[in-house]
Parts: sequence; C-alpha cells; structure tokens
Amino acid sequence: MKRSISLLILFLFALTSCQTSTPSTQEEVPDIPFPDWGDRSALESSLIPLYQDILGEMPDATIYHLDLNINEDLIHISGQEEVRYTNQESIALDEIYFHLMPNYLGEEMKISAVQVSGADVDYSLEKQKTVLHIPLETPLGIGKSLIVKIDFQTTVPIELETNYGILASTEGILSLAHAYPMIAVYDDEGWNIDIPSAQGDVTYLDMSFYLVRVNAPKDLVLVASGNEITHQSTNERQVALYAAAPARDFYLAASEGYVHIQEDFGDYVINSYAPADLEKGAQMAMDAAAASIDLFSKKFAPYPYTEFDIVSTPTLALGIEYPGMTAINIDLFDLSANFGGTPASIYLESTVVHEVGHQWFYHLVGNDQLDEPWLDESLTQYITWQYYLDEYGSNGGAGFAQSLNGRWQRVDHAEVPLGLPVGEYSEGEYSAIIYGRGAFFFEALAEEMGEEVFDTFLADYTQSQAWDIASTESLREIAEKHCDCDLEDLYATWIYPVE
Ligand SMILES: [Zn+2]
Repeated sequence: MKRSISLLILFLFALTSCQTSTPSTQEEVPDIPFPDWGDRSALESSLIPLYQDILGEMPDATIYHLDLNINEDLIHISGQEEVRYTNQESIALDEIYFHLMPNYLGEEMKISAVQVSGADVDYSLEKQKTVLHIPLETPLGIGKSLIVKIDFQTTVPIELETNYGILASTEGILSLAHAYPMIAVYDDEGWNIDIPSAQGDVTYLDMSFYLVRVNAPKDLVLVASGNEITHQSTNERQVALYAAAPARDFYLAASEGYVHIQEDFGDYVINSYAPADLEKGAQMAMDAAAASIDLFSKKFAPYPYTEFDIVSTPTLALGIEYPGMTAINIDLFDLSANFGGTPASIYLESTVVHEVGHQWFYHLVGNDQLDEPWLDESLTQYITWQYYLDEYGSNGGAGFAQSLNGRWQRVDHAEVPLGLPVGEYSEGEYSAIIYGRGAFFFEALAEEMGEEVFDTFLADYTQSQAWDIASTESLREIAEKHCDCDLEDLYATWIYPVE
C-alpha cells in the first residue's frame, strides 16, 4: 500500500510542478559550474595520455569560459564569456581586440556589456564591426593577466550565401562557426584584425583552452569540438559542458535529425553524424577518417585528441576543418548521387581525408590562414595525395595527382607564387594555385631532399611546431636543416612573390 501512496504523491507532485513550470526558455536549468582558472583537470579527457603534459606547459595560453544559449528557433544565440588573457608578448599592451565574425559572416553579433577585471569599460566596434576594440586604462604588463567578460547576442544567417554557409541555420541544421568573440592574435605585425578575404579560411588564432557550456533545446543532437564532460537535461532544455584543449577555435553543429555511429580505435574514438537516411555515407566518412588518422599519426605525429567528429551540414564548401572535427557537405553523404558524373563517394573520401589532414596542418601546427594559406592548404592537399598512394598504390596516387593537376590547369599552369595572402589571388587563381599547384611544390621538395629525408623533415616540422604557429620561413629553415642544402632557388620558383 505504501508504494501506491508514494506513487500518488509523486503523481500529485508532478502535476503541481507542471502547473507551476515557467516557460521553456526560463526553465530552471542545472548549474554546471566552470572549474577555477588554474584547474585544468577537466581538460585532460580531451587529450590522449601522450599529450597531456601540454596542459602544464602552456600556463599563459588564453582560457575561455564560454556560455552559449541556443534559442528554440536555432537562429538566436545569447552568450557570455569570461576570457583570461595573458600578455605573452615582449611589450606591454594598451589595448586588446576580439574578432566578431558573425558581423562578417552574413548576420549580426551585438555586444551588450564588456568588463575588464570586474569593471565596466568603454569599447568600440571597428573594421565594419568585425572587431571589438578594448582600450586598457592601465597597460597590461609582460606576463600579466586580465579577465575580460563579454555579453553578446548572435543572430545566425538563414541562408548559406556568405563564406560557404559556415555560420548558418538551414534545413534544421545549425552550423555555429566562430560564433563567440575570439581573441585576436598579436604577433610581429601587431594585432591581426584584418577583414578576411571571402574565398579563404577566415581565422588565424592561437591555441587556447576552452570550457564551453551549451544550453540548448533538449532534442537537439549537439556535436562540438572537444569532449562533452557533463550533460544534464530538464523537460525542455539540456546543458552540456565541453572541454577542448589546447584548441584554436570552438565549433558546434546541431540538429534534431542527426543519428550517429561511433567506432573505438583505442586512444581515440571517431563519431560520424548524419540524418538516418544517409547512414551509409556516414559509415564511409568514418572509414576514410579512420584510415587517414592512422596514416597521418604514423607519418607526422600521433593524433592528439581522444575524439574526432565528422558532421554533415549544408555548407556550400565540400568540407571545413575545425579543432577535433570537420563539417562535410551533406550532399556528399548520398552515395547514390553524382556531381557532373563523378560519384559522391569519390568526393566524400577525398574531402574527409583532406579535412582530417588539417588536424595536423592548420590545427596542431598553426599558421596565418589569411596571409600564408599555402602552409596548411597546399600541404594538406599533398598529404591527401600521399593517402591515395598509401591506400590504393600508384594508380590511386596518379588519379589524385591528376585531379590536382586539373585544378592547376584551370589557370593554364600559371606559375603564380604560393606565398601570397588569400586576398592577393584572383577568384580563379586561389583554388588553382593553393589547392592545385601547391601540392606539386611539396613533390618537388621531396625530390630535392630525397624521400627519406623529406619524411623525417615533415615529421620534425610537425612535432617541433606542434601547438605553435609555423611560417613560410620556419618551414624552410627546418627543411634546410634536414637536407643540409639551400632551398633559395626552389622557394624562388614556387613560393616567393615576384619582386
Ligand atoms: Zn583545406
């Protein structure tokens, strides 16, 4: 009897709480606190054991405590972030900048409050509102830290037209690229705050530590950079805490329609997300990712994270790279489709392998993607070529080389230098040179150095520049050290701008 009474009480209680429950957007959500600034234990789970020491070796890396609240309409995001920034430069800084990419990517990011170390400060939006400028009343000394708190509201475009639809809410899929204020890089050029060129990747960012709390409608399947370390749900909402570290960015995609497959490879798992009717494509993407992560881990450096996610989105690009994950054009997952006579499966495999390659070149080894796009894109095309050789032998390699050559052919094999900023290439040139000609530079370099020396060099380049920013000159220096040769002529032929 006792049992039924308690059931009755429970039922009455449930009824009462239903009657008094607040509207869904204000529903009480679980409180998942951020750890203390110095506590990096939550970040350990995102790195394989071999790399966990890095958490202690970057004491001055920026730390983000980021809150993203996703509205039911999948268009409006309200957010707050606290960012601990340490001056790692050799001069005191009297200002800092954050990128506000949604103001470049076709919609809007509004800033409603900015505090520095607990006090309201003046700020301004500059460069067509694509950056937030915060003058510092007291300059930030070398090695000193401050905490910037920013309240922001992001509106997500409902069209794909701007920059391949990397930030968009369409077809029930939310793609949330660069949707929070991102601290700019300060380097020998000063603050890097230029408005990006429309045809290339839009970010140049330092490695940071990300703890991100996502509050979203309960039925959304969330796919994000890093690892989910806590997850709680209420009737209408869910809150998940993600840890990604070190990482250059935080990306999230979400849809009610995703189903996912997962495979465990020991040190890491791979997840592949697509709508249920595209599961065969999700499996094929998984297989290509598994084979390429294995190959690149052996050749360059082990894959650092415990998770890699593939997510299908309506992006107008074939694929886009993000830390620990990639967004791949959803049409490629339909294995019965073809594009101009080429089966979707051909595009799916080469795109997944290319984006996996970026986990080493763009992410683990960073570069200025606006000023030196060849460093990640041309090299990633070259290692995709190596994948085809490894996986399918000389015929497979020749097939991929033919597609690279076809790209370069679009500008009649013009010998346009690889080392230009994205914005200095004409529209046709950018793809033909950076994605076509660029791979053949690395072939020429391997020939000059000898295969074996080249392989050792590329592994050393990856490992010595890991977590850092490489440059056209640092790649040359490391290569010259290995071949004990002068690469001036080769660089003059392929890389350097014509005087
Ligand atoms: Zn790429």
